Amino acid sequence: MSLKLNSLLIHGGIDGDEATGAVNVPVYQTSTYKQDALGKPRGGWEYSRTGNPTRAALEKLIADLEEGNFGLAFASGLAAINTVLSLFKAGDKLIVSDNIYGGTFRILDNVFDNFNITYKIVNTSDLDKVEEAIDDDVKAIYVESPANPLLTVTDIEAVSKIAKKHGKLLIVDNTFLTPYLQRPLSLGADIVIHSGTKYLGGHSDTVSGLVAVKDKELADRLYYLQNAIGGVLGPWDSFLIIRGIKTLGVRMDRHVANAEKIAKWLDESGYVNKVYYPGLKSDLGYEIQKKQADGAGAMISFVLDEKYDYKIFFESLKLVTLAESLGGVESLVCHPASMTHAAIPAEIRKEVGIVDELIRLSVGIEDVDDLIADIEQAIKLSAK
Ligand code: PLP
Repeated sequence: MSLKLNSLLIHGGIDGDEATGAVNVPVYQTSTYKQDALGKPRGGWEYSRTGNPTRAALEKLIADLEEGNFGLAFASGLAAINTVLSLFKAGDKLIVSDNIYGGTFRILDNVFDNFNITYKIVNTSDLDKVEEAIDDDVKAIYVESPANPLLTVTDIEAVSKIAKKHGKLLIVDNTFLTPYLQRPLSLGADIVIHSGTKYLGGHSDTVSGLVAVKDKELADRLYYLQNAIGGVLGPWDSFLIIRGIKTLGVRMDRHVANAEKIAKWLDESGYVNKVYYPGLKSDLGYEIQKKQADGAGAMISFVLDEKYDYKIFFESLKLVTLAESLGGVESLVCHPASMTHAAIPAEIRKEVGIVDELIRLSVGIEDVDDLIADIEQAIKLSAK
């Protein structure tokens, strides 16, 4: 029976436990497995870096949700990114969206660049710029859409056509929307990456990373690298992410409803110079977002009017928490320039618009009127 997404969230992957009838996938907290004879592991499992039944259930689940065929789970989003970037070799180059998570920039700039795997920053929402940037050394295009932190929307289907025409891979970080709202593999991407730490886990209690692909050959290379590099997700954390995913649909519905209301309120409030949210009709990415996703997500960035001091704003919030990360049930706010995107050199930050005054809000599932009241009182207290 082919299940729709809301059923897959609960019954996708491996539903419960065949051996015992347990409704939930058990935590197989073991590093190794008994072999009945040389080369004959009982049940096919050998060593938990290579494979673990709890992790395998999550890996199958993310593959199902992303409309892919193969999934992989890692110790963090960056462990997932590290493994995907390890597909490339010295001399290869990646085209990268011009605003991406600071840690993704850092691993490209300070780790893979040392191995002569280089990158070129491009505004991937401009298809001509993507086309222009392609040369023989480019092996992949790496996109976040909507991007962190400016929520820039890239037309995934259009970029995938460019990538295919030139024989390049398209990699999409789908952390901000999750498969509940956007399924990049079905839009033509080759590899989808997640920081599962965010909406998939959903409760700000587990760090994890996930990857999904359709292609068997690509999956085999990634499984090889996953085992060779070893940044795998442990059984207990795999269990927590499976549990988080069960409520993804109901959480995302509330996240998005709250974010739409807050973005509109901010935009009309007179307190801000700029609101970045692809669910606003005035946003540059609005039409493409509507075409390729089932909602605009719950991340909003904004710049307060000069009349307000953003540092005092952060200190004055009572309900919304100042913290790194996003995607949990609780609303979080951060200062990209000094926190999530501090690894990006100041001149690049300035060039792409990650100004010092930029505030990034991860809208939680609290009562939206309480959230608006908290933001408004903090803005008022921050008046210069
Ligand atoms: N991708 C995006 C869009 C992120 O926001 C983050 C973290 O904030 C990551 C990847 C990295 O994930 P992790 O922190 O789980 O390593």
